[in-house]
Amino acid sequence: MTPDEHTLFRENIPAYALGALDADETAALETHLETCASCQTELAEYRALSQSLLTAVPPKQPSAALRKRLRSRLPGAQRPAQPRWNFSFTPALGLAVLALFILNVFSLIQLRQIQAQQAALLTRVENAQVALTFLSSPNVQTLPIESEQASGTLLLDWENNQAVLVTRNLPPLPPEQTYQIWLVQPDNGRVSAGTFHPESGGTYTIQPLSPSQPFANYLGIGVTIEPAGGSDAPTGKRVLKVDF
Ligand SMILES: [Zn+2]
Repeated sequence: MTPDEHTLFRENIPAYALGALDADETAALETHLETCASCQTELAEYRALSQSLLTAVPPKQPSAALRKRLRSRLPGAQRPAQPRWNFSFTPALGLAVLALFILNVFSLIQLRQIQAQQAALLTRVENAQVALTFLSSPNVQTLPIESEQASGTLLLDWENNQAVLVTRNLPPLPPEQTYQIWLVQPDNGRVSAGTFHPESGGTYTIQPLSPSQPFANYLGIGVTIEPAGGSDAPTGKRVLKVDF
């Protein structure tokens, strides 16, 4: 399975949880679910969400007393000549309420996706602005990255102790993995300088770095593939390095 396939399946999970997927897509997703723990968790979450929304307001038959009270408040109650509104809660009305709740769940899911996209775009714009600022500064050193898969540079501002790692064509990672940046100490120890995911759909990834200690205290940086959330020390394969 490629990460792209996984992403496609993941997008179908909300619809699947509501039984709104067509037969082909359902079969494909169910096959994927058998082997993907991450998608199984996602499905369980959506099922819990739709379940709690659907059961939040169960269709109910109003009591006779309530019906009488409500009817007396209707504008037409004082004018018996007009046809009366039959207030009974029909199965059709129940279905309509159910349909509204399902629509609600879909809207919530879409809203969540749009919010996530907005946050990602904002980060991307901010990082691009940081990179532009760096490029316009006369004191910034441009260091090449050494990597088999990707190309790029580290823009290093020694004076302000800030850097931006610009990578190109870094392969995308599944959600359960992340890239982690390490600062290399003279005694060969490693200090984490944060984690990042390549921007989906973009060829460039721009990652700012601002360590608590001066860059001069380190020999360079390395980037490894680690489990999501990052590690305390490098455990995965190194994908690139930059020597200062
Ligand atoms: Zn999956």
